Amino acid sequence: MASVLAPGELRLTANRRALLAALDKATRPLTADELAGSAGVALSSAYRNLAELAAAGVVARVSTGGIDCFELAEQFSDHSHHHHLMCIECGIVTDFAPSPQLERLISREVEELAAQHGCEVISHVFDVRGLCRQCRPRR
Ligand SMILES: [Zn+2]
Ligand SMILES: [Zn+2]
Repeated sequence: MASVLAPGELRLTANRRALLAALDKATRPLTADELAGSAGVALSSAYRNLAELAAAGVVARVSTGGIDCFELAEQFSDHSHHHHLMCIECGIVTDFAPSPQLERLISREVEELAAQHGCEVISHVFDVRGLCRQCRPRR
């Protein structure tokens, strides 16, 4: 995973390596705070390095509307294309993969819609906002 970083593109410092290892073993997108804890990196360093890794396209920022989360970019991740369920209350983000039928339907519809605007599709993001199991009863 980490070896895919082209040499010279972004230097793989100890902190970046630790953050990438933490992202690699995470089972869901994590906040900078959670990643700093998991990687044993200072929070300020985690923020800076995650922003740089995101700018380099190695890490994907997941915008929740609250505190952003981070995950490995799909091309560097073991579980490739997926979508997100986000809790608007506590901000937890869960990965999910639609059925192959729904995924094909989304791709086809998105491509048709984009084509009407003269746009060639590179990828799509389809995230769902709601209330998680823990937050639902408190509403
Ligand atoms: Zn929640
Ligand atoms: Zn999809």
